[in-house]
Amino acid sequence: MSSIVLFGPPGAGKGTQAERITEKTGFPQVSTGDMLRAAVKAGTETGLLAKSFMEAGQLVPDEVIIDLIQQRITHPDAAHGVMFDGFPRTIPQAEALATITEVSHVIAIEVPDERIVDRICGRYSCAGCGNVYHDTFNPAPEGGCECGKWEEKRRADDNADTVMSRLAAYHEQTSPLAGWYEREGIFHRINGDRPIDAITEDILTALN
Ligand code: ADP
Ligand code: ADP
Ligand code: ZN
Repeated sequence: MSSIVLFGPPGAGKGTQAERITEKTGFPQVSTGDMLRAAVKAGTETGLLAKSFMEAGQLVPDEVIIDLIQQRITHPDAAHGVMFDGFPRTIPQAEALATITEVSHVIAIEVPDERIVDRICGRYSCAGCGNVYHDTFNPAPEGGCECGKWEEKRRADDNADTVMSRLAAYHEQTSPLAGWYEREGIFHRINGDRPIDAITEDILTALN
């Protein structure tokens, strides 16, 4: 098993790019954010624990996250590898990941802080299929998305208040991972402040 990590600040475009490259790699997307939101919605013990951290824009404790990942990678679809989106986000998470799977590429999508607020505050998605859209930069087709189950959804934490905490958490706890992966020679920096298609192309080149 050998996996790919999509790395970057909140709103960098990790989910957007994951959607486009899972087909090409054959690896399923594993988003800890999506897993946590599902747990909150289902009212599980994990969800109850995670909710307050997520609402405050803080990272959920490492033990909770590592537990979720350990369960997820036992699914048969993860046998050959997965594409992690939003994991790992701390050094202890990266250490745990190293015991679970080899990481072949870390794709860092770089977007300046001053762009992040607009990205996050205009984000919405389709509850039917999970596709991610943006009010200005990537609107859904007129009348909803093409999946046939169109339902607009906005995240409770996608507001100007929590963005600042989430960015601070990224700079303090997550960005130190760049140096860690750079030393291993598997870190690829991609300029994420460009059109979505151009970024996808660069990621596919980096993965080759
Ligand atoms: P992440 O998963 O890294 O938090 P998303 O993929 O959800 O980020 O993208 C955040 C928001 O920015 C979404 O509304 C998305 O449609 C939009 N977006 C993604 N990539 C770009 C891009 N290259 N240029 C402009 N907007 C983008
Ligand atoms: P974004 O890419 O916009 O930051 P995510 O969906 O990846 O959003 O994460 C939403 C929230 O879920 C985070 O603010 C954090 O509270 C929690 N979370 C997601 N992944 C992790 C992780 N790997 N470690 C700790 N907390 C996480
Ligand atoms: Zn849809």
